[in-house]
Amino acid sequence: MKAEIIAVGTELLLGDILNTNAQYLAKRLADMGINVYHQSVVGDNPLRVKEEFSLAFSRSDIVIATGGLGPTKDDLTKEIGGKFFNKKMVLHKESLKEIQDYFKEQNKPLTENNKKQAYFPEGSIILPNDFGTAPGCIIKNHSKILILLPGPPRENIPMFEKYAASYLEKLTNYVLVSKVLRICGLGESTVVTKISDIIDNQCNPTVAPYAKQNEVTLRLTAKAKTRQEGLNLIKPVELKIKNILKDSIYGENNITLEDTVAKKLIEKNLTISIAESCTGGLLCGKLINYPGISKVLLEGAVTYSNEAKIKRLNVKKETLKNFGAVSKETAMEMAEGIAKSSHTHIGLSTTGIAGPSGGTKEKPVGLVYIGLYIKGTLSYIKLNLAGNRQNIRYSSVIAALDFLRRNL
Ligand code: ATP
Ligand code: MG
Repeated sequence: MKAEIIAVGTELLLGDILNTNAQYLAKRLADMGINVYHQSVVGDNPLRVKEEFSLAFSRSDIVIATGGLGPTKDDLTKEIGGKFFNKKMVLHKESLKEIQDYFKEQNKPLTENNKKQAYFPEGSIILPNDFGTAPGCIIKNHSKILILLPGPPRENIPMFEKYAASYLEKLTNYVLVSKVLRICGLGESTVVTKISDIIDNQCNPTVAPYAKQNEVTLRLTAKAKTRQEGLNLIKPVELKIKNILKDSIYGENNITLEDTVAKKLIEKNLTISIAESCTGGLLCGKLINYPGISKVLLEGAVTYSNEAKIKRLNVKKETLKNFGAVSKETAMEMAEGIAKSSHTHIGLSTTGIAGPSGGTKEKPVGLVYIGLYIKGTLSYIKLNLAGNRQNIRYSSVIAALDFLRRNL
């Protein structure tokens, strides 16, 4: 079963709005195991919309078009769809009544052009619009199916979910089930090399690596008759991968690194305080994304200057003099200092050179130390990060969270 998505709207072509409908629908169709090989955007122009329909149906069984169902002159997707299949437009009385009621409720006069929204190609299945006036529809012509959905995402998505998805699900006889494994601390090429056997011999499930900033994900996708059968197919491959990558995998599906760390801290009832130099509060802010972190996160301090490191964290003057502010010695004293003064089990610190200036041969831009104090034990990691100031600060935060996670 092949489908394609056509977004109709000149604003999309001009770049005024982003085609989020296509993104949403593509993901949902993939979930259903319907192949999407093409997506397109076309302006509000009758000839070009018709050409787009012709092209799409020459290679696909199902076309989902979004936008252009409204009352105005440039809303013509439905009319073109009807013409394309040689179906005349007929009034759908219930839709007209709903439009009339809607206007009555809003205390607005029903203009003539609004009635156009109640006309559909003969034989269409009507998809009610619970969040607007323009209903959508499904037009079937022999083996070809055209599904028309409204443009505004707040109408498009609920209509798809409530009225179109079940229609499509009935057309396919299998589902695609996916599971995402999230990896931190290893680059994409390392991950791929470590599991090359699995990747080379993949079949069902498929294993797709994807590199994002500071993390790699592996998407395992199985094609099966039922969701459970899909999960059963994924399980052994997932276990094999987990055996190889071990604790480099920090979580599954939509969980974030900070969620994983926060959950672990709360579960183990370990309190934490944070002393930040180059990350300037970003690390603390990241952990505070997690609701409920107040149970364990007691304090965060941005100690940017040497004076602050001495005064607030009790870092020794000699340490700063002998090793510098960006050193493992300072990082560990910062971690210990914040933990002791905040009376927490854990102290986590960052100190580094985010650039663009300030680097030297010995201490280049991107050199960052993360210090960690856990119940009397001190450790650190040294990072040599690339990128601009913001990249370096962000990567430091991720590395600090990952270092903490691996030590919990
Ligand atoms: P309306 O009744 O509001 O006119 P419509 O079905 O005719 O709805 P359009 O006129 O094509 O839809 O688009 C209405 C609005 O919906 C656009 O201004 C835009 O904000 C949003 N929209 C349209 N298409 C998309 C899309 N593909 N992705 C995201 N937003 C979209
Ligand atoms: Mg419109």
